[in-house]
Amino acid sequence: MAQTVSNPKYREIKDGFYWTQECLPLGTLSELDRFDMSKWIDADEEVHGCQNAYLLDGEQSLLFDTLTQPNGDQVVDLLENLLDGDDLDYLVISHPEANHAGNTFTILEAYPEATLLVPGEAAGHGTGHGTEHELYHIATDTPEDVSELANEIRYIGDGDTVDLGGYTVEFHRPVVADHSFTLWMTEHTTNTLFTVDWMGFLHQSSNCVSYVHELDREVTVEQVFRFHALAFPWLRFSDVEAIEKGVADVRERFDPDIVAPAHGMVTTENPGQYMDLFTEAAAYLSEEGEHENMQSKLEYILRPPTEV
Ligand SMILES: [Zn+2]
Ligand SMILES: [Zn+2]
Repeated sequence: MAQTVSNPKYREIKDGFYWTQECLPLGTLSELDRFDMSKWIDADEEVHGCQNAYLLDGEQSLLFDTLTQPNGDQVVDLLENLLDGDDLDYLVISHPEANHAGNTFTILEAYPEATLLVPGEAAGHGTGHGTEHELYHIATDTPEDVSELANEIRYIGDGDTVDLGGYTVEFHRPVVADHSFTLWMTEHTTNTLFTVDWMGFLHQSSNCVSYVHELDREVTVEQVFRFHALAFPWLRFSDVEAIEKGVADVRERFDPDIVAPAHGMVTTENPGQYMDLFTEAAAYLSEEGEHENMQSKLEYILRPPTEV
């Protein structure tokens, strides 16, 4: 099965607001027995997972996440193209994980004037990792000593804002459970919520960089379930009421017009509808963690060692 990440594609959401996407072909349905996705995909259609990064280009520019290392050169070329030769002013890392931060140093070296904005907790301010966290160091040409980097590094946290001129972003502690040290982002002018690992799902290979309402088929609970079952395994043991309250808090606090996730498609129409799908998926997922459903898994995990 092919496992090569595609070159990045892109789409302009608003003037100077770009969605970039790289996809990982996961095979066809017949190769994906473990996914029961027959409700939204035909047997011969190829399924994609994806990573997204977002570029906001106002008077100043900001890139949110980096796509992955196999696309390092392509990401730098794409940035040069989209910025039309202008400098990148800010690179923001949502959290120090390879498929979000993998091109950090490649991009910083291409743009020595860019300021790196990283979640302060992840950088050791609070309960996080040290500034030398190895996941920031995964580019092949990572400098030996980060302090020799020309770029300024700034730590960001909940409530911090950056006015780009035309676009203004704000960072937020995730309201619904997300991976450690993750910061979500909003953009005020377009009322966009960047949900990072929350609200992801797979898509058909003919639907790359498509808005959710443009997809060949409607997103199903099954799709949302499968993604979150893999990305957030702990949802099996979550308190469904707390999750529902979290989603209600997202709607009340942000009420976004656009939802831009890291591993799904951008929603520009009625994002609340897809948050409802997540709530439904989380309820199903929590059933997997119930005692009778865990029994056989526990018996397998705790089975006595067999002689070789
Ligand atoms: Zn992720
Ligand atoms: Zn795709």
